[in-house]
Amino acid sequence: MEELNTLHVESKEHLKEVKIKFRVMEKHIIYQYGNDKFKINYKLINKEYIFQPNKKKMEYLHFYRVITNKFKSITMRNFKDYIDYLINIIPNIYQYCTICGTKLEYSSSVINTCQNTKCIYENECNATTNYVVQYYKNSPEIFDLLLSTALFALQVKDRRIYTFEPFPIEFMTTKTVVERGKISLDGSDASLKDFARLDTIVSKYFNEAEYNNLLVIISECLTDKDLLEKIDTNLYSFIKFVLKSNSTELIPTTINIGESEMDGYKIIHSRETEDRFRTTVNTFLFH
Ligand SMILES: [Zn+2]
Repeated sequence: MEELNTLHVESKEHLKEVKIKFRVMEKHIIYQYGNDKFKINYKLINKEYIFQPNKKKMEYLHFYRVITNKFKSITMRNFKDYIDYLINIIPNIYQYCTICGTKLEYSSSVINTCQNTKCIYENECNATTNYVVQYYKNSPEIFDLLLSTALFALQVKDRRIYTFEPFPIEFMTTKTVVERGKISLDGSDASLKDFARLDTIVSKYFNEAEYNNLLVIISECLTDKDLLEKIDTNLYSFIKFVLKSNSTELIPTTINIGESEMDGYKIIHSRETEDRFRTTVNTFLFH
């Protein structure tokens, strides 16, 4: 282990000291800034340290994405620029979009994305926070409803090109931003929808025993990183997309029909949407 190094930077207004300790280990580098610690892996080829993700923590993956947005590797030639960049970003590491690495226009102290549509869509399919595990913990019934409905929609093969919309960017033939609903409405760019990898998921999990087993696995995980160690990345992307792309607020409820009681879900719409249906003539919406 090498001796800890402290770096200093001078800002225009006053002498600002940024202390970053870093240790170069055999396969990874550890950076410590205050209480924040980040690890990034590297491969050393011809005196070039080529960065690779360290998947142990979401924070390390975030650090990796922000760093590699500017520097894919360090060499003697770019070392000074790299250190300058590091000094600037490390005190505000959560101020950078976790997908594209650009600086956010709003203040953030957690992993976040910018407002770029492509980043928002990619975040729907990537493990960046504990979204999936937390969602299950908060609303297991809604989680179950959304996931089982998505699996059902995918296995109706002659209609899914229209019904499975929006489509996760991660599974498109090319990662393209398409206006949501457009492919369903006019069938345009239908070739973007690549169902091959989704079919692998459907063929396994459109099965009660496998599906229930998956829910048990999710319920037993504390973080999304734990979950990623237990399930395939494609499956994780699919689940997160299904949850994230749902734009309706659903609440589990019970419906009484005569003597019998059924499980149901209430959809909470915005005032504008509710008003559209508030006419003197009753309007029914069937699904
Ligand atoms: Zn972005």
